[in-house]
Amino acid sequence: MISVEEALVRLLAPLEALPAEQVSISDAVGRVLAEDVAARRTQPPFAVSAMDGYAVRAADVAKVPADLRIVAEIPAGAGFSGIIDRGEAARIFTGAPLPEGADTIVIQEDTTREGDIVRVVEGPPLGRYVRRAGLDFSEGEVLLHAKRRLTPRDIGLAAAMNRPWLFVHRRPMVGILSTGDEVVMPGEPIGPHQIVSSNALALAAFVTACGGTPVGLGNAPDDADALRRFAAGARGVDLLVSTGGVSVGEHDLVREVLSEDGLKIDFWEIAMRPGKPLMSGSYRGTPMIGLPGNPVSTLVCSLLFLKPAMERLAGLPDNPDPLITARLGRDLRQNDRRQDYLRSRLARNADGALEVTPFEVQDSSMMRPLATSDCLVIRPPHAPAAPAGSMVSIIMFPGGAWPL
Ligand code: AMP
Ligand code: MG
Repeated sequence: MISVEEALVRLLAPLEALPAEQVSISDAVGRVLAEDVAARRTQPPFAVSAMDGYAVRAADVAKVPADLRIVAEIPAGAGFSGIIDRGEAARIFTGAPLPEGADTIVIQEDTTREGDIVRVVEGPPLGRYVRRAGLDFSEGEVLLHAKRRLTPRDIGLAAAMNRPWLFVHRRPMVGILSTGDEVVMPGEPIGPHQIVSSNALALAAFVTACGGTPVGLGNAPDDADALRRFAAGARGVDLLVSTGGVSVGEHDLVREVLSEDGLKIDFWEIAMRPGKPLMSGSYRGTPMIGLPGNPVSTLVCSLLFLKPAMERLAGLPDNPDPLITARLGRDLRQNDRRQDYLRSRLARNADGALEVTPFEVQDSSMMRPLATSDCLVIRPPHAPAAPAGSMVSIIMFPGGAWPL
């Protein structure tokens, strides 16, 4: 058995960012930039008014009230080719270009108007409510950098930079192969000794939530020939993930059967709970993670290993989820040599401190506590007994595919 830390390092070592492709900006959210992006335009491209009001010369309104003659009306999207002279003003609207000669905007609320004369009753300082050209950014400036996962805000920025296309890394295609004579997909005819498969669909959802494309390879029965046939469907995927069949029973065929068929195992067995029998290697040259079949093991291992693997393929820099500490809501026994990940509830106690309470029963087959937990408490190997009130490290279940 190797440690969780060593397992992660070894599992990630052979993985590299996938090649780049050009996508329309409207398809780019959540994708990871493959190159630095420079602005193709200065923003704003010219000085504009930030308010509805009057474009004036500040010197003309140094003393108020001041009466000015309106010589132009400039809505957004239009221009004025003349010059605002002394004693003159232009009616102007938000986003309209500042006319030559004017240097300041008087907001509409600080004026009264009679015909083509505007009376300014509040004199603003020079340059008030003028957005100078390039206030936001200038052409040629690099504003978005490679290895960044594009948020909706980034999409807005890239659009303002006049970038209709972006170079991003290809989405990881993840083949999902479940195994076991006993499992059938939800809704399918089910025999008296069978159970409903949760792993394949949970994994597909997980891959999607991580920004990848799941490729369902079906459920292979516990039969050597069938397993080989199903696994062969993995051709062309970037990562193969199997569930079940990697433990020590006679019906756990994945390691033995696929080893005769192009599987190279790097390691098997991690000192962790749930998830001990996890296997990592490559199948016919495709990186492969063999997840244990218990549904909780499958999903906890996905969080700890599949997510970082997909992030590596997607072109993101390594960025482990931050560990948070919280106060224990109940006593925990001394731990053995496996690192524990306890499904737990997180809440604020009466003092406003984060309090974490592991579920009493931590069976790795139980989906309900997994789905209703907020986080995992990490218990390092050989951790001493921890009474309620002591501080422990937790990993939150991430909230979404990417930051908004
Ligand atoms: P295995 O690793 O194949 O020995 O499976 C361990 C446990 O996980 C067994 O109780 C299986 O029935 C269960 N299991 C395996 N695959 C799935 C699946 N796709 N969905 C739900 N449970 C599964
Ligand atoms: Mg099995």
